[in-house]
Amino acid sequence: MSYRELTKEINIGGVKIGHGNPVAIQSMTNTPTSDVNATVAQILALEKAGCEIVRCTVPDEDSARAIKEIKNRIHIPLVADIHFDHKMALMAMENGADKIRINPGNIGSVDKVREVVNLAKEKNIPIRVGVNSGSLEKNLVEKYGGVTAEGIVESALDKVKLIEDMGYDNLVISIKSSDVMMCVRAHELIAGKTPYPLHVGITESGTVRSGSIKSSVGLGLILGQGIGDTIRVSLTGDPCEEITAARLILKTLGLRKGGIDVVSCPTCGRTKIDLISLAQKVEKIAEDYPYDIKLAVMGCAVNGPGEAREADLGVAGGLHEGLLMKHGEIIRKVPEADLLAALKEELDNWGKE
Ligand code: SF4
Repeated sequence: MSYRELTKEINIGGVKIGHGNPVAIQSMTNTPTSDVNATVAQILALEKAGCEIVRCTVPDEDSARAIKEIKNRIHIPLVADIHFDHKMALMAMENGADKIRINPGNIGSVDKVREVVNLAKEKNIPIRVGVNSGSLEKNLVEKYGGVTAEGIVESALDKVKLIEDMGYDNLVISIKSSDVMMCVRAHELIAGKTPYPLHVGITESGTVRSGSIKSSVGLGLILGQGIGDTIRVSLTGDPCEEITAARLILKTLGLRKGGIDVVSCPTCGRTKIDLISLAQKVEKIAEDYPYDIKLAVMGCAVNGPGEAREADLGVAGGLHEGLLMKHGEIIRKVPEADLLAALKEELDNWGKE
């Protein structure tokens, strides 16, 4: 049994994570939460992209109050992200937040944490206990001779214990570090030590390109060991890019199905069509179809037909034209300029014949 099947099930506004439930995809808005229209528009775009849980920062009272209206206009659970002011956590819960994310170490006194925990308990709202390598307590930095995976894990488990001692166990844990391998190590360490589901992410991972690569390596290593119940791919860019990356990571690991798997060749001297541009366009249009199929975009008629034959749908480029293949059979020859439209037509009619 994997760690993922052994974790406690936590219900976040109807989306269940842990205990073998599918790894849920999260993202975070980057609009001011108090700007309801902008935040709702971004969340609706995230929903369309496949986001299952969304987090919004709640730095002030206007943001905490805005949660009520935002919740009325969206369809996925909303997590309120609280940094320092415990009153924002209380207001966010009063206004309908489905989960709150706090770092008890940043909240201040134990009494303030207790106030938050008591209201969460009363409303049965899960708390995500988040610790970050950047805010590791001094005593743990000294104890372990620097910021280490062991220190991050001890910090997280201390905070969980604090909340458990207050009589609450509706918890999710997140431990983050922008050092990918430290993050992997921390997850390996904590997985066997706690029953709570783990929210996994590589923090401050970078721009869409470098962040996607770092997150794929880090999340791949963690999720591949059966660790992790919900993920966020943090990217400096449009949050919808985080969803695209998260879906692809889960699909590559065999943790999710659905959506077209576009494969394409790297091109070489044999390529006689503009394959790079075609593959990029095909990848874009493929996002709009729910089919669980493989679509191959290959550059030539040497290796191309073989690869395209193994796919459900494919093209193999020739001299300014391409062979359109379906279920391993050549169905027609199409001029290069019409290849994208021909593939789109096949996708539009997929499953109808
Ligand atoms: S499929 Fe053809 S064009 Fe593409 S890399 Fe292979 S040999 Fe080159």
